[in-house]
Amino acid sequence: MAAARTSYNATSTLELQRNFVAGDYVANTDGATFATCHPGSGRKICDVEIAGQSEVDAAVTAARAAFAGWSATPAAERGEILRRAARLLREQNDELAELETLDTGKAICETSVVDIATGADVVEYYAGIAQSIHGQHVDLPPAAFALLRREPLGVCAGIGAWNYPIQIAMWKSGPALACGNTMVFKPAEHTPLTALRLAEIYAEAGVPPGVFNVVQGAGETGAALVAHPDVAKVTLTGSVPTGKAVMAQAAQDLKKVTLELGGKSPIIVFDDAAMESALNAVLVGNFYSTGQVCSNGTRVFVQDSCYDEFVECLAERTQAIRVGDPFDPKTQMGPLVSKEHLQKVCSYLKAARSSTARHICGGDVLSGGAYGDGYFVSPAVFADCDDDMEFVREEVFGPLLAVLRFGNEDEVIQRANSTDFGLAGAVFTRDFSRAHRVANQLQAGIVWINDYNVTPPEVPFGGYKQSGVGRENGLQAIEHYTQVKTVYANLGDVDRTY
Ligand code: NDP
Repeated sequence: MAAARTSYNATSTLELQRNFVAGDYVANTDGATFATCHPGSGRKICDVEIAGQSEVDAAVTAARAAFAGWSATPAAERGEILRRAARLLREQNDELAELETLDTGKAICETSVVDIATGADVVEYYAGIAQSIHGQHVDLPPAAFALLRREPLGVCAGIGAWNYPIQIAMWKSGPALACGNTMVFKPAEHTPLTALRLAEIYAEAGVPPGVFNVVQGAGETGAALVAHPDVAKVTLTGSVPTGKAVMAQAAQDLKKVTLELGGKSPIIVFDDAAMESALNAVLVGNFYSTGQVCSNGTRVFVQDSCYDEFVECLAERTQAIRVGDPFDPKTQMGPLVSKEHLQKVCSYLKAARSSTARHICGGDVLSGGAYGDGYFVSPAVFADCDDDMEFVREEVFGPLLAVLRFGNEDEVIQRANSTDFGLAGAVFTRDFSRAHRVANQLQAGIVWINDYNVTPPEVPFGGYKQSGVGRENGLQAIEHYTQVKTVYANLGDVDRTY
């Protein structure tokens, strides 16, 4: 009989949450906790125990102990377990979506169809290819050959951001576990809840104790994990400064790193584009998840001849976005994740308003009444922006869309590339040759032609320049969760040299 489904709403509270180590919840030694809150009201959901050095040690020890057995488990069996996990995740989609909305404040219309589903897709994708992860044979006549064995790395540390907590945990653990590694995962402090449910689901699916562990806490817990000598690889989703700190720490003992960092991606709209389609993409590429998406296209370059009409339509459509209670199925945009983040976004909105950019709409803090003490802000559009304005150069990670006017192709490519970021980009045009010319020249890890923010598991995702190191998803991720051992076999005798 299926277990009763738990429902969560804006007033839900949970019991004390603990770290998940070696297949079970464990109490920490010093009793230190932090509180996690619902961004729609600021109300506390529960306390969460912090993993200090001894809990991090215990989690890494458990992951190290589990590695021998898991890496030797037949790939077909690993795949079958991960497939079961994907099925359980989909069965529990609605409950997990509500929990994610409670913890992140993201609108339920998003979490119920995207966050869990796109994570489960990735787990299932790697479950399917687990059996095809193998090495190569190199013939070396007349009397030798080499085997290139593809071997797992060992204990991987996964560190997540707060914008897609459970999806990030799955994007990291899916390929890591399929390749035979074990993992200790640390979610962001603002969103600690769903990674624990993922650990429970993995256990229910048959993932052995110690193969997937969750430690809770802020940057210090993450740093302890990165510094741990028994961790072979670190995979982080976070900001550029954190990425640099993690890479510097990992360099101390040359741990491998995958970094999925921030962006300030361009969307280029030429005057021959399908305008309705471009508009739809620009809106979703700026305001989905309240603008808290790393790959968002927050610099929208629009060609002269269609500029005024485009901005007018953008204003109308942006003002129609329904902001409110994230648990209301009609809500299209929930609050920002935290009070501190609201303050950060507001400082960029203030700078935008006092710049020479034209304020088109939005950017107001929404409080009182239905908004209560939640961290709400209305989606903002600024037009006639300059490339060097602070809010155009820096990642805001909130609902602030900057429109920039351009004249021709060469000019817009040069301006689009004029940034230290390089995560994503898009070009909207009906001209096939131009679409590919522009895509080829954009300095970004992923470029969409006539679409935006589509990330199927089969295609690699990651950044150029300061937006990251390595790739997630696709076959490329396998390269980042394995290492190649060359085994050279001599079929003859060794010649006498001395
Ligand atoms: P942060 O960089 O602040 O944090 C990311 C994670 O790293 C958190 O779990 C954080 O802990 C932890 N952390 C902080 N300091 C350290 C440290 N010294 N060592 C180890 N771990 C540490 O990012 P945010 O959580 O604020 O997320 C937003 C950022 O993530 C944006 O820049 C966004 O672009 C990026 N991002 C990138 C994506 C991509 O795929 N490229 C996808 C999603 C987001 P804690 O928060 O608990 O303090």
